[in-house]
This record gives sequence, structure tokens and C-alpha cells, in this order.
Amino acid sequence: MRRTWIFGVVCTLLIILLIGYNLRLQREIALQEAHNNLVSLINSVEMDLKRSFSSLEQLFLGLENYLDFYAEQKVVDPPQIRRVIDDLILKNDYLTSLVVIDTDGQILHWNNNFDKPNLGQREYFRVHTKGQYDGLYVGDPQESILNKGQWIFGISKALRSEEGALLKVLNAIVDVKYFYRQYQELFSQSSSTLTISSPEGVIYTQIPKHDEHVGKKYTYSATPDDADFNKQRIIDGQVQLTAQRRLDSYPLIVSTSMPEAKALAAWYKSAWTLALISILACSALLFLTYRAAAYQNNEAQIKAKLQRQAITDSLTGLANRRHVLEEAQKEIKKAQRGKLPLALGLLDLDFFKKVNDLYGHQAGDEILVGVAELLRANCRESDVISRFGGEEFLLLFPATDLKGAIASAKKICESLAQKTFKTAAANIQITASLGVTQWGSDETDINEALRRADKALYQVKKTGRNGVKWLPGNLKGEKQSHSAWLGQRVG
Ligand code: GH3
Ligand code: MG
Ligand code: MG
Repeated sequence: MRRTWIFGVVCTLLIILLIGYNLRLQREIALQEAHNNLVSLINSVEMDLKRSFSSLEQLFLGLENYLDFYAEQKVVDPPQIRRVIDDLILKNDYLTSLVVIDTDGQILHWNNNFDKPNLGQREYFRVHTKGQYDGLYVGDPQESILNKGQWIFGISKALRSEEGALLKVLNAIVDVKYFYRQYQELFSQSSSTLTISSPEGVIYTQIPKHDEHVGKKYTYSATPDDADFNKQRIIDGQVQLTAQRRLDSYPLIVSTSMPEAKALAAWYKSAWTLALISILACSALLFLTYRAAAYQNNEAQIKAKLQRQAITDSLTGLANRRHVLEEAQKEIKKAQRGKLPLALGLLDLDFFKKVNDLYGHQAGDEILVGVAELLRANCRESDVISRFGGEEFLLLFPATDLKGAIASAKKICESLAQKTFKTAAANIQITASLGVTQWGSDETDINEALRRADKALYQVKKTGRNGVKWLPGNLKGEKQSHSAWLGQRVG
């Protein structure tokens, strides 16, 4: 029964473990898939950015050719350059301005008619004069001075002589909305978030909610490494899975995010289904275990009852003849091992036939039950009390010598003689005769001792009943004498 419970509970735990492990695995797969999606979004944005930047490089190359051409012609401030610049701005809608600057920071050509300010203190100009940047330099986004609310950033390139000396700086001013327009459709469809920022984290655009984030600091990671994943961002109070990449060719960081709940939506569904199935399976298993255990318990109880019945006298509840003989054998073994005495007494009710004849068999039965109670009350816990035959009782007194057994037998005899049994038929008094002896230490079974007890009992019957006679053990060969105590005759 205990084993059944252990088996049932272990199986239930195994099911829970297995399903738990499976769910964990599926969750990891779902997250990995989400990661792959975010990375492939970064890939497409990166490819597109590269394409845009290389077309800008082509544009710069074209402008450089014009500048070289007019420089060779030794034309000072040729008006054609202005036309070229205007034309380029017209053709490339992302450009708001195009500036050619000399080595002192002075504007040589641009698309404006205002006074030309000196740009020597601008960050990009200083970057190029120090020769820090070879390719395209991308400046941080800033709000346009001329056009409030418009966010722009510069992409600049240094033109150098063959020896590496700075000749000119070209700077293209781009509207950051260009990024926004380029990717808005893709990202609003996928319900993912795109952030393009500088390595320091200044945001060029974020989709959605470009206007809220442009120019702000992107606080996700201080050192945004390649495809940094498994970090979470909280966007609009939502936990978002994030992948990000620092582009190789341009100083930009592209980051894509997706709500974790969305990435795990399908997983949540299957998790609920699996959890439900496992709850049902575990409940069924535990119910079956309970039923099996209850069945086994019932079987065990029936078996125990049958076993009890097999060794018990049904009328008095005392040990029956078969059982007391088995117990006697066990007690002999114990006495042998512990070198202990073992005594026994055989009790037979006096004139019981008469009781039956006078008051009926029912009254006789009631007395037998009463005698069993009296015996229990007068014996020790360790004594074995049995109904040996009709109105005959065999008592085993373990660890008790002959003297002790005689004392017990006398006590029983006296108590019985003093007792009145209140049966349905009448109040009845009865006496008993007891033969007492002890097990001889050289005897292998109880039979010899039983014969002696019977012999002593017979002597009591012969000499007037209501008394105790005894025969000591170990008297083989010698003439056995019956010592006696006879109680007061009753009635
Ligand atoms: P004594 O032993 O003193 O010689 O006389 P007695 O009348 O007791 O004689 P004996 O032991 O030979 O008789 C036993 C009687 O016990 C016979 C039977 O009527 C009665 N008896 C045996 N078993 C039962 C039982 O289960 N119920 C009842 N009511 N009587 C029983
Ligand atoms: Mg008898
Ligand atoms: Mg009798």
C-alpha cells in the first residue's frame, strides 16, 4: 500500500518534471526564434543603411570631381558649383543642405544665400582636421537652428591630398525623418521597435514614437556589443526582448526590440494546454493510486481479520488451541535463549455440564465469556491466555517459575469462587480446578508439560475440585508427587 503511494507519487512527480522540462525547452526555442527575427530585422536595416551611405559616398565623389574640375580651371568661386549642389539636394530628398568647407572652417559653397558662418568649431570639422576619421563621419542628431522642430544630422567627409593633407570638408545635412520614413512601414507592421542611435546612445530615430525619442539618450546599454541579446528593455512599461548591433562601416547602433509577451504568445497557449493536460493526468493518476491503495488496504484488513479469526476463539476472543500451542513453542525458544523459566496452568470449570443442564447453554456461554474476562484481569500482559477446549483454558506464564505460577493459579481460583456471574437466566457461581507445572529445560516441546498439568488437574478433580495442584518439571524417572492447595468449597 505504501509502495503503491510511492509509485503513484513518483509517477506524478515524473510527469510534472517531464512537462516542466518540456515547457522550459519550448520557451527557450520561442525566445531563440524571436531573437532570430530581431537579428534578421537588424540585417535588413543594416543592408539598407549601407546602401544609403554608399549612395551618399557616390554623391560626395561626384561633387569632389566638380570641385577638382573647377580648381584645375582656376575658377574662383564658380557659380556652377552652387547649381550642382542645388541639383543634388533636389534629386535626393533626404538632403536638407550640402556644404563645402575650406581648411579654416570657412564655407566655400552651400545651398543658402545667408552670410556664411565659420564652421571651424563644429565637432565634425575638428574630427576631420585632427584626421580622426577616414570614411564618413556621422554627427549626432540636433534640432535645426533655422527650422525649429526639425531634427537633422550631418554626414561629413574629408577631402585630402595624396600626402594626406586636409583640402576640404564636405558635409551633408540629412533630415533624421529620413530614417523614420525608410523603416516606419516595416516596423509598425511587425509591432517591433527599431532604435538607431550613435555609439554614445543619442537616438536618431525610434519607431514607433520617433518624435518622443529623437535626440534623447538611449539608456539600454553602456557598451552595446554585437547582437547583444537576452537583455530586456522596458518600453512603454512592457518587457521587451532586444537585439542590437554596432555597424562595422558607420558609427551607428541599430537595435530592435519585441514585446516578450508577443514572442511567447504561442508558447503561453501551449503551456496552458499542457498544464491543463498534466493537471488532469496527475489527478487521474493520484485518483487511481488512491483507489489502488484503498483496495489494498481493504484486502490487508480482510487478511488481518481472517488471520485473527484463525487464531482466536470466537466466543471469548482468547487465543484458540492451535494458536496457544504455536505460542508455547515460541515461548520455549525464548526460555531456552534467555535461560528463563516457563510455567503453565490448565484450568477446567467444575460441574459445567450441570450449569448447562440447569440454566441452559446460553447461560453457559455467558459464563465462559465472563471467565475469559476474569482470566485477563488476573494475568500479566505477557501471559498467554487461551481457550483450550470446551470449558478448559490453558495459561502460559513466561519468565515465571513454578511458585509464581501457583500463586497466579490460586488467585484465579479464589477470584472465580468469589465471583457471581449475572447471566440472563440466573446469577450463577462456579469454581474451577487448575493443574500447574513448569516446562522442563530438557524438553523440546510443550507436550510433556501439558501431560503433567493435566495429571495435576485430574488430581484436583479427584480430591474435591475448586483448587490447584502442581507437578514440578525435570522429575524424569522419579516418582512425581502432587502438591496441593484446595480452595474453600463454594455453595
Ligand atoms: P468436571 O469437569 O467438574 O468433572 O464436570 P463437568 O461437567 O465440567 O464435566 P466435563 O468437563 O466433562 O464437561 C464439559 C461440559 O462443558 C460439557 C459441555 O456441556 C460443556 N461445554 C463444553 N463446551 C461448551 C460451550 O462452548 N458452551 C457451553 N455452554 N457449554 C460447553
Ligand atoms: Mg472439561
Ligand atoms: Mg469441567
